[in-house]
Amino acid sequence: MRILVFNAGSSSLKFGVFDLKPGAELSQAEQVFKGSFDRFGPDGCDYSAGSTKGRAPHTSLSEAICAVPEALAGVDGLTAIGHRIAHGGDAFAGPAQITPEIRAQIAELTPLAPLHNPANLEALDLAVKIWPDLPQWAVFDTSFHLTNPARATTYAVPAEWRKAGLRRYGFHGTSHKYVAGRAAEALGQDVRALRILSLHLGNGASACAVAFGQSIDSSMGMTPLEGLVMGTRSGDVDPGLFGYLERRLGLSISRIEAALYSDSGLSGLTGSSDMRDVEARAADGDADAQLAIHVYAYRARKYIGSYAAAMGGLDALVFTGGIGENSPSMRRRICDGLEFMGLKLDHDRNLSVDLTGRAAPQIQAYGARVNVLVTETAEQLMIAHDVASAMAAAKGPALRVPVAVSARHVHLCARAVAALFGEGYTLTPGKPLRQKGHWAAQERVTLHGPRGEIANVAILGPLRDRTQIEISRTDGFALGIDAPVRQSGALDGTPQIRLIGPAGQFDTDGLIIAARHIHMNEADAQASGLNDGDRVDVRLDATGRGLTFADVLIRVSENAFTEMHIDTDEANAAGIQGATEGEIAPVAAQMLA
Ligand code: ADP
Repeated sequence: MRILVFNAGSSSLKFGVFDLKPGAELSQAEQVFKGSFDRFGPDGCDYSAGSTKGRAPHTSLSEAICAVPEALAGVDGLTAIGHRIAHGGDAFAGPAQITPEIRAQIAELTPLAPLHNPANLEALDLAVKIWPDLPQWAVFDTSFHLTNPARATTYAVPAEWRKAGLRRYGFHGTSHKYVAGRAAEALGQDVRALRILSLHLGNGASACAVAFGQSIDSSMGMTPLEGLVMGTRSGDVDPGLFGYLERRLGLSISRIEAALYSDSGLSGLTGSSDMRDVEARAADGDADAQLAIHVYAYRARKYIGSYAAAMGGLDALVFTGGIGENSPSMRRRICDGLEFMGLKLDHDRNLSVDLTGRAAPQIQAYGARVNVLVTETAEQLMIAHDVASAMAAAKGPALRVPVAVSARHVHLCARAVAALFGEGYTLTPGKPLRQKGHWAAQERVTLHGPRGEIANVAILGPLRDRTQIEISRTDGFALGIDAPVRQSGALDGTPQIRLIGPAGQFDTDGLIIAARHIHMNEADAQASGLNDGDRVDVRLDATGRGLTFADVLIRVSENAFTEMHIDTDEANAAGIQGATEGEIAPVAAQMLA
C-alpha cells in the first residue's frame, strides 16, 4: 500500500509518502517522498522536498496543500491518505475513515483543540477535493492515551464540569506509540514486558508513561497546554492565576489563555522559543536563558520521577523530538541526579548519538539499571502504518469468539504451596479448564488485605515460577489494596498481599487485575489476520447490555483454546450471565510488532 500522510499546522504543512506491506514490521516501511512547507508569510514560505531546500510562493496552508500534487509529480499509485488530527476526544480509539459524519464529529471537538483541529480539518477538506477517489483516514494524537485509567484522566473538579467533557486526554500519542515500540525493538524486548517513559521534546513537549505496551498517563491534559515547559506554551501552572491576573492586570480569560499558548514557555522566559538560541545565550552568561534551561530540565525530571512511581519502576527512558534528539546537554541536565533510581548516562555515548536510518542508540552508563535511548520520532510513518493496518483489518472477515468470565483466582509458585499447605505438599488437580493442561485445584486460599479478607479463592494449576493473584477492581476495594491492570506475567512493581492457607501464610507481590485478553490458537490467528500483541475491539452479544470492549489483547499460542477472558466487574458491566460470544470488530489499533 502507498499512503500519503499530511501533518498540517497553522504555520506549516509536512507531508510524506510511504510504501508499506500490511502486517509487516514498521522497520520495513519505505518512505518514498518527504516534503514540507514551513513558516507561511506574506512573501511565501520555506519549502523542502527530500534534500532540496528553497522558497515557495505559498502564503497559507491552503495554498500549500493545493501545491502538493505538483510536488508529488511522478509519485503515483496512492492507496489512501492519512491525516494527523490533534484531538479525537474519547470517541476515537484508533484510525477512522472519513465520512461526512466522522468529519462532523471531528469538527465538534474543535473547542478542545482550537489551534490544531481547524488546521487539520482544512487540510482534510482540501485533500478530499483534490483526491476525491482516495479513501481518507483520520489518525488521532489522543487515541493512544485512551487506555489511561480514570485516575489519570480525571480532574478533581465539580461533576457538572466533568459532564461537560472536562478530563485529561493527552497528545503526541502517535509519537509516543512509535517511540516506545522502537525502543523495545532496539532493546530486543517485547514492548509488553517493559515500563517505558517516552519524552517527546520538540516545540510541543510531553512525557508519556507506557506501561507494558499501553499508555497509562501523559503530561498533556484536556488540551496540549498542560505538562512540560514548551517552546511557547507554559505547561503546568496554578489555575489560580486566572483570577489573580484578572484582578491584578485586568486581563480577560481569552487573553490569558492566548498568552499561555503563545507567549509562555521558553519564549516567555527568554523571548526565544528555540532551544538552540536559549542554549547559546545561556552559555554566553544570559541569566534569563540559564533560568529557562533550569526550569525546563527540572520539570522534565520531576515527570520522570512521577511516572516511574506511577508504573512501579522504569525499564527504559526514550528521548525524541528536536531537543530530545539533538541536545546532549539537555539530556544530561534532565537525567543528572537520578542515579538513585538506577538512571545514569554515559558521557561519551550521550555525546556521540547518531540517529541515521531510524537508529535508536543507547546512552545509559554501563551497568545502569534503566536503559536510556534516543531516537527520531516518526509520526508520519506511524500514521501510514496505522492507516494500512486499519484498511487491511477492515477487509478481514469478522471473527466470533466465546467469552469466559474469570472469577478471582491465584496461580501459585512452589514456595507458596509449601508455605500455605506444608513442605512437600502437592495440590490436587480438580476440574480441568478449557486451556489445555490447566486445572482448578481442589484446595482454596484466603486473601488478606489491610481492609478485609476474601476466603475460598480458587487456585489454578499448574504451578508457576512466580505467584500471581488476579482480582477485580471491586475485590481490590474489599481488600483495601489498589491492584494495577496488567497482562498475565507482568508482575514487576505490583503490590504485596498476604495469602493464608491451612498450614501457614505467604506474603507476596503479584496482585493484579488481569487485562482483558483473547487466547487464540495459531490457526484462528492466521484465519483472522491477527498477530500476537494486536489489540482489537470486541462487541459482546446483546444477551447482556451489548457492550463493546476496546483494547482487548490478542495472545497467540500454538494450542490455545480460542476464548476471550474478562473479569467479573467487566461481566457485570456487560450484564453477562453464563456463556456468551463476542465479535471481533474490524479495527486495528495495533502496537508495533
Ligand atoms: P516540532 O515539535 O515543531 O516538530 P521539533 O521536534 O523539530 O519541533 O523541535 C524543535 C525544537 O528542537 C526547537 O526548540 C529547536 O531549537 C530544538 N533543537 C533542534 N536542534 C537542536 C540542537 N542541536 N540543540 C538544541 N535544540 C535543538
